[in-house]
Amino acid sequence: MKVEIEKLISHLKTQGFVFQGSEIYGGLANSWDYGPLGAEVKNKLKKLWWDFFVRRNEYNVGLDSSIILNSKVWQASGHLGNFNDPLIDCKKCKSRFRADKLIEEKFTEMNVGGWTNQEIEEFIKEKSINCPKCDANDFTNIRQFTLMFKTNQGVVEDEASTVYLRPETAQGIFVQYKNSQRALRKKLPFGIGQIGKSFRNEITPGNFIFRTREFEQMELEFFFSPNDSNDWFEYWLEKVKFFLEKVVLIDQQNYSIREHDKEELAHYAKRTVDIEFDFPFGRGELWGIAHRSDFDLNQHQSHSGQDLTYLDPETNEKYLANVIEPSVGVERLLLAIFCQSYVEEQLENGERIVMKLPYKLAPYSVAIMPLQKQQKEKANELYKEILLDFDATFDETGNIGKRYRRQDAIGTPYCVTVDFDTENDNCVTVRNRDTMEQERIEIIKLKEYLLTKLI
Ligand code: ATP
Repeated sequence: MKVEIEKLISHLKTQGFVFQGSEIYGGLANSWDYGPLGAEVKNKLKKLWWDFFVRRNEYNVGLDSSIILNSKVWQASGHLGNFNDPLIDCKKCKSRFRADKLIEEKFTEMNVGGWTNQEIEEFIKEKSINCPKCDANDFTNIRQFTLMFKTNQGVVEDEASTVYLRPETAQGIFVQYKNSQRALRKKLPFGIGQIGKSFRNEITPGNFIFRTREFEQMELEFFFSPNDSNDWFEYWLEKVKFFLEKVVLIDQQNYSIREHDKEELAHYAKRTVDIEFDFPFGRGELWGIAHRSDFDLNQHQSHSGQDLTYLDPETNEKYLANVIEPSVGVERLLLAIFCQSYVEEQLENGERIVMKLPYKLAPYSVAIMPLQKQQKEKANELYKEILLDFDATFDETGNIGKRYRRQDAIGTPYCVTVDFDTENDNCVTVRNRDTMEQERIEIIKLKEYLLTKLI
């Protein structure tokens, strides 16, 4: 069953996962803050990505580059000239839209990436696509709108001091490719991964945290020899699928793979695949995987005048590395996980909302609770002990049924209750979030029990 997005948002707000940005001042359009629980999930998600794509991959290393880079980087990458979206205005109500999205939202099977502005304008006229706000059919021509956020560095505000907030983390990797390769004495093939904030002045942000102007990306640039006969694209596509299905437990039925056709491919790209997720508001890009050839290194080499070629120690040949780039937004992946995890269950004694988050992403792994006041001291002792090894919380308010529901609602996989009998038998009751089954476990075996269950 597909979750209703409004219900999900309301749940995430009340439970402390996601808040409206600057809320006490009336908010700031499409900005979201991650509350105490959301920050936990987000950090855990980033750590899972980092472990999988950087630390535990035989080829890769990590990087943390600046958000503000020398503006020449953006000239070389093409962002200053080309990082635009087609903006169209409704003449009647003055609303602004991305012209390509006007079409794609009406004709959901279509993809107009690669169309010229003229083709888009003609299609909108031909199919009488109306303004989604006021239903008028009176649009301006398309103008290109740059997505780069501009600011000034230092005290003087002139063209020379103009800098940009990065619209992707990838370029930071390309400009430190040579340093990383030399310092770590890396041989091709190898990859550099990075997690960090990116900024895009999107024309139409929205759909909750799906498209925002400030977001985080997890990007890997994987460098390999143009003579390498391995299919690294397929290798990384498989890795991404494995991560989705086996690490963050995205159901195979909820995502699909869309291959870009020739028209849609960027001029430098040899192959691009979008992994799309079935969000409640429709199918949308979750993760992009692109073969970028040697485009970026070539551009940076010619703009910087630095030699970015690689000297192959085996063949003594010098060449520019080719690149495969798997790139995903932290919040988009988080939204997909939230959509899939939110479940309303009808029980004999009422209804419960459970966040069936993967155990590794739950804000807390365990909740320790005394059944009644009399067991508070004992439970607190156990809580402090458990905290040494697990992300635990202590919950003592309300009746036990309410506390179980509360932990279900935030996705805590295990609740451990200290009760009347604990004093005599040194056992606690352990309840599983998904099955709601309860087991009696000896306290001395609790850590081992939880370790085996929480993997
Ligand atoms: P879209 O077509 O949705 O605008 P894109 O093709 O421009 O996305 P990329 O430049 O390939 O996106 O960025 C890589 C990933 O970064 C995307 O797959 C997505 O997960 C994430 N992403 C891009 N733009 C945003 C945004 N405005 N808000 C949140 N995440 C984003």
